[in-house]
Amino acid sequence: MTTRRLQSTSEDIKTAAALLQAGQLVAIPTETVYGLAANALDKDAVASIFVAKGRPQDNPLIVHIGELEQLNSLVTDIPDIAEKLAKAFWPGPLTMIFKKNDCVPSIVSANLDTVAIRFPVHPIARQIINASGCPLAAPSANVSGSPSPTTAQHVKNDLDGRIAAIVDGGACEVGVESTVLSVLGDTPRLLRPGGITVSMIESVIGPITIDPAVTHQRQKDAVVASPGMKYKHYSPKAKVILLNGSAEKVTSYINAHAEEDTWALCFEGEEQGLTVPYLTYGKRDNQEDQAKHVFDALRHADEVGAKILYTSCPSQEGVGLAVYNRLLRAAAFEVIHLEE
Ligand code: AMP
Ligand code: MG
Repeated sequence: MTTRRLQSTSEDIKTAAALLQAGQLVAIPTETVYGLAANALDKDAVASIFVAKGRPQDNPLIVHIGELEQLNSLVTDIPDIAEKLAKAFWPGPLTMIFKKNDCVPSIVSANLDTVAIRFPVHPIARQIINASGCPLAAPSANVSGSPSPTTAQHVKNDLDGRIAAIVDGGACEVGVESTVLSVLGDTPRLLRPGGITVSMIESVIGPITIDPAVTHQRQKDAVVASPGMKYKHYSPKAKVILLNGSAEKVTSYINAHAEEDTWALCFEGEEQGLTVPYLTYGKRDNQEDQAKHVFDALRHADEVGAKILYTSCPSQEGVGLAVYNRLLRAAAFEVIHLEE
């Protein structure tokens, strides 16, 4: 199949919407990362998402809506806290887990009785959802396991020839996937950190629980609330190893352990003294910038042929928790602590 490259003109938006209505897959820009969209109510279209990405069938998808009213038909109940959060953060990079309505095919939710819903703020995403007239199931538009795509070129590199079209909306603003929060039960539970931070959520609804899987490896057969969190993920071909420590300690560790094709992925401004080639992903104290650049940097590491990628460990403050969560999975949980 030839993958069409579309822009954000009204004609191209109509084309994207028509392809979606016809059960095809279209990669669309959102404020988080590019999504691989299909009509969420068409189970065959949704099934083809799993095939195109090579995604495990037990990893449920997020359903994207273009207007708040669309929520009512997809879920059985909207808890008060969800209403408050929607008011505060929708449209935006927050996904909430609700009890699912029967109209949502079970393949979308991997047979769970719940469904993840997000209302994106990106104007092109919203226009495409609304022009198609259907909610769109859309995981990240990458080959499963590889770093998420933050540009149309990243999508093309992964999925060219496997999907009907890619809509180019430029680089994504946030750069990491949405925050996933379960609003079921008594205490809301953070399943995946993202652009909407824990403190932003807590400022609206009070204390929330952070699922242990956010920062810790789960036992192989443990039941995980968010199935996506159990996989090695977001990973380049290079072996990623996180180094937790000051710029000086990171630099001397890398220099002492450098082998052939070892690269560093460090914070901007902390490159001096490194004896190996390096990439950067934002300044140490700028978590938003790190989020915006981390996936591009991981993809770049493959392009330059890095075999080992020693990576400066980000802080877990604010959006940093999302960056840490993704890098931890890219590193298959291998962190070396350099401070005493
Ligand atoms: P992606 O679409 O690649 O951004 O991944 C979607 C994330 O949302 C994965 O981590 C899923 O496990 C999670 N998710 C989707 N639906 C549900 C659900 N019903 N319950 C819990 N987690 C979900
Ligand atoms: Mg993904």
